[in-house]
Amino acid sequence: MSGAKVVVDRRYRGYILDVDGVLVRGGEAIPGAGDALRRLREDADVVLLTNNSTRTRDALARNLAALGLDVAPAKIVTSAVLAARWLAEREGICRVAVLGEEGLVEELSFAGHEVVALGAPAGWVVAGMDRSATYDRLAGAAASLRSGARLLATNDDATYPTPDGPVPGAGAMIGALRGIGYRPEAILGKPNVAAFEAALCVLGISPNEVVVVGDRLETDIAGARNAGLDSILVQTGIARKVPQTGLRPTWSAHDISAVADGALLAVGKGAR
Ligand SMILES: [Mg+2]
Repeated sequence: MSGAKVVVDRRYRGYILDVDGVLVRGGEAIPGAGDALRRLREDADVVLLTNNSTRTRDALARNLAALGLDVAPAKIVTSAVLAARWLAEREGICRVAVLGEEGLVEELSFAGHEVVALGAPAGWVVAGMDRSATYDRLAGAAASLRSGARLLATNDDATYPTPDGPVPGAGAMIGALRGIGYRPEAILGKPNVAAFEAALCVLGISPNEVVVVGDRLETDIAGARNAGLDSILVQTGIARKVPQTGLRPTWSAHDISAVADGALLAVGKGAR
């Protein structure tokens, strides 16, 4: 790679970290991730930003703690949280039917929304990844939509990484609803700029001192660019190669430990 160089000790004051493929892979911590988190927090602040809506912030924090990854629930933003807030800010307290999992149901309830059964009259259908999806649940969502509910998507990720390879993500639910004629009014997770603004709000740090760390070009890196933030692509998740043209991160790093070391390889800094 002509012109590329390792930059030692490039650090930021704030880090917006993706979870799957950055800290965790296949239900286990990525080696060194717990120590990297501790070192990053010695002189910076860290927020986790994940499109995964299946767990609440508390449940995700507990799950990460069991893997040796210490993060407070208040420092976590999920697409379920984004959905609950988006509705509250624009529409007030809503009656919602959920094509999604427990984490999405609970975050909507925490925010004060009334969660009703799929198929019941509702103001909104909120759709996210749903590993219990069935024809009946899809038909229920369609019935709510047919009777006037509007559609909101937590995110539109095509896949979700597992040890056995990628499985269908929230995009499968959104795609099924599109296939029967319903389009979401908004898609809230990464790469939506609003997701990064929510994470920046938790950090309370000037955007030019913040970097996004992710493993996926079309969400983490594209979203960082949309939000005007620097980005680091790590090689412990979905993306296996650093693109040399088109959509590129500011930096690449082998893993989160290298990020904590400040050992970053310049990729697209000059192009921004
Ligand atoms: Mg990821």
